[in-house]
Amino acid sequence: MKKIIMYAVLDVEQPFIDAYAKAHNVEIKSVAERLTPETVGWAKGFDGIDIQQTIPLDPSIYPTLKSFGIKQITARMVGFDFIDLKLAKENGLIVTNVPAYSPRAIAEMGLTQALRLVRKLGYYDDRMDRLDFRWSGLESTEIYNLTVGIIGAGHIGGATAQLYSALGAKVIAVDPVHHAELEPYLSYTDLDRVLKEPDIVTIHTPLNNETSAMLNAEAFKKMKPSAYLINMARGGLVVTDDLIAALQNHEIAGAALDTLADEGQFFEKQAQPEEIPEDYKILRAMPNVLISPHSAFYTDTAMRNIVEMGLDDVMLILDGKRPNYPVVE
Ligand code: NAD
Repeated sequence: MKKIIMYAVLDVEQPFIDAYAKAHNVEIKSVAERLTPETVGWAKGFDGIDIQQTIPLDPSIYPTLKSFGIKQITARMVGFDFIDLKLAKENGLIVTNVPAYSPRAIAEMGLTQALRLVRKLGYYDDRMDRLDFRWSGLESTEIYNLTVGIIGAGHIGGATAQLYSALGAKVIAVDPVHHAELEPYLSYTDLDRVLKEPDIVTIHTPLNNETSAMLNAEAFKKMKPSAYLINMARGGLVVTDDLIAALQNHEIAGAALDTLADEGQFFEKQAQPEEIPEDYKILRAMPNVLISPHSAFYTDTAMRNIVEMGLDDVMLILDGKRPNYPVVE
């Protein structure tokens, strides 16, 4: 029987791991710890390894895995920048990831938050907290009246376009890569129009040198004062101070943020008030800003796919076959 070790396993993953082990007749050991020089020894005697983390792997880990006869590293997540691909190759380790475990999970969270903003529910919650039952001043609109601008129509942006389109909204998008299969749901245009025309601007690009700080003071000035920003992608795409200024100056109407720069320090953590940075506090206090803890991915479908798609690739490699999602340099 093949033996696989999984690091950094979350409680919510365990039922899917147990089901996979039973269905595929494989022994799977789960540990809560990350893969570090201290924990790599636990992989001795196993055939395959499956991990998830963001902190870079220590360089000593690659030759150690090789010395154990391990032939792969599977990252059961989209990002694999914490793996040194050169060192992996030098040590005969095939790297795989899970590039799209459930684009709908993130797209649906973005849509949900956008609808909350459009219906001004943050303001209503605020009033209800004060037992203020009046609705005056909080007129909303209906979704088919809106234009939605998508920056980055890949897996998640594409799913987002389908959702808004199904509700009757007009969808425009900017992406250097055009996907013919998305044409029924959106029309491609340039960044300028995607900032200027929409009532909702939703960003779904990767974070890299080109996209970092893409949504800055200049971009917010182009947006309509009635427009909402949805960022379910990466905190670094948005300049937080510029966003705060744009909200305070009524250059845009509100924002929903599932990711914020420096969010790593709060990963799955009960934070203390004194730990919270000033910019978070300012945003959190605004009824037209919705913050969630990078939880857009967190659905049953996504958790099952994260486990199954990662383990499928471990098994394929152990069987000497080509994995479904090899990471190509
Ligand atoms: P993807 O690679 O499928 O799509 C990204 C798209 O952005 C591509 O089509 C690409 O061509 C386009 N793009 C790149 N640079 C661009 C630019 N300068 N302007 C316009 N478009 C550009 O990625 P994805 O799986 O859809 O992920 C999108 C984002 O969502 C990523 O930032 C990812 O890290 C994030 N994400 C967030 C969560 C969460 O829980 N909040 C979960 C998974 C992924």
